[in-house]
Amino acid sequence: MHHGKTKHYGAQELAPGRQPSHQRFPLTHLPYGAFAVEDQQHLCVAIGAHLLDLHACASSGLLPPTLTEACQAPTLNLLMSQGRQAWALLRKTITTLLHADVKPQQKEKAEAALHSIAGSTLQKPVHIPNYTDFYASIHHATRVGQLFRPDQPLLPNYKHIPIGYHGRASSIVVSGEPIIRPIGQTRPPAEEVEPDFLPTKKLDYELELALYIGQPSAQGTPIPISSAADHLFGVSLLNDWSARDIQSWEYQPLGPFLAKNFATSISPWVTPMSALEPFRGPAESRPATDPKPLPYLYFAADQKAGGINVELEVLLLTEAMKANRLQPFPLSESKAQDLYWTPAQLIAHHTSNGCNLQVGDVLATGTISGPAEASAGCLLELTRNGTRPILLPTGETRAFLEDGDEIILRGSCKLSGHPRIGLGECRATILPAHT
Ligand code: MN
Repeated sequence: MHHGKTKHYGAQELAPGRQPSHQRFPLTHLPYGAFAVEDQQHLCVAIGAHLLDLHACASSGLLPPTLTEACQAPTLNLLMSQGRQAWALLRKTITTLLHADVKPQQKEKAEAALHSIAGSTLQKPVHIPNYTDFYASIHHATRVGQLFRPDQPLLPNYKHIPIGYHGRASSIVVSGEPIIRPIGQTRPPAEEVEPDFLPTKKLDYELELALYIGQPSAQGTPIPISSAADHLFGVSLLNDWSARDIQSWEYQPLGPFLAKNFATSISPWVTPMSALEPFRGPAESRPATDPKPLPYLYFAADQKAGGINVELEVLLLTEAMKANRLQPFPLSESKAQDLYWTPAQLIAHHTSNGCNLQVGDVLATGTISGPAEASAGCLLELTRNGTRPILLPTGETRAFLEDGDEIILRGSCKLSGHPRIGLGECRATILPAHT
């Protein structure tokens, strides 16, 4: 694969202010990714509109010898397994390297390793052994529950236990890869008709964050909530594609299966937890009437600062909108800080029975919806299971996704006194079903 031309860096190229808010990659961010170099995959970090080839940096002696092997690997897993001191050392080395007053000889070598992001092909940066999807937004759980169980929208376990299911790691794809409409078995509810086997008519997205596990845990040994955060490497955007008609027929009694495992998209950049530090905040405050989490899920410091203050949005671009050169249409905005369960609670709960975590595992938050109806992170909620279609600027309507539709997830963190950082984009276009 061809990659971008080497570019000389100066204040202007690296200035994050020139990029849209979801694409802010200042020096305080340095998200990890991977890109194609001929038939190889190299690790990189993003800086401004450029990426720094870590494989090339290691080859030209710019990185500490202890990091050479990890930085010349095709995925981040080896770096992850080296632990927090290695992560900090690499970040510090890159920060120094990209600083304006670096020695001329080093600067020249670093310049040779810079490429434009726009001219590069980004790839999946982590080998993901396991993928678990949670259900951590109480607003999502409540509104979805209202659609199917108006009498009891929120099941009695919700406020006690982080609900989740084991997803499928093999079908996780990177942003940009198209999604083929799944075919499956459906049966309209409350109708005495035979099931059919057809392309889904209710294809949906789910706006989520992916939490990457950087440090493993041993089988049989739960991770205490007090040290759960130490196992987190970073976050990216995740779209848990869902076929609602397949889901509603198959999900009882064992939960989601073929309605979700056909594909999951992730954004190409992994934002390290250290870059997110200024943007951590309190967990969503629980009404006094809500039960206090059991001790294995409760840690005062986590309640105080375990939330992640990421602002998220979902946009839709239909074929007609593309043909008319229209901007993507914003469907919703929400905040990760509105999640009922923190990342540390998800990790503590996942391992509480002795289940082990592996380096590179993804724990996804579940659909991130806010308290307002307009801040719903999927079409199931936004259109009330398709009964209230959305009107688009082209005059088209959408109850669920059509072939040719492109869904774009974006995320960014802002706080006065800190440079804004962007999580980039997670986008994919729907292709017709194979029939
Ligand atoms: Mn989900």
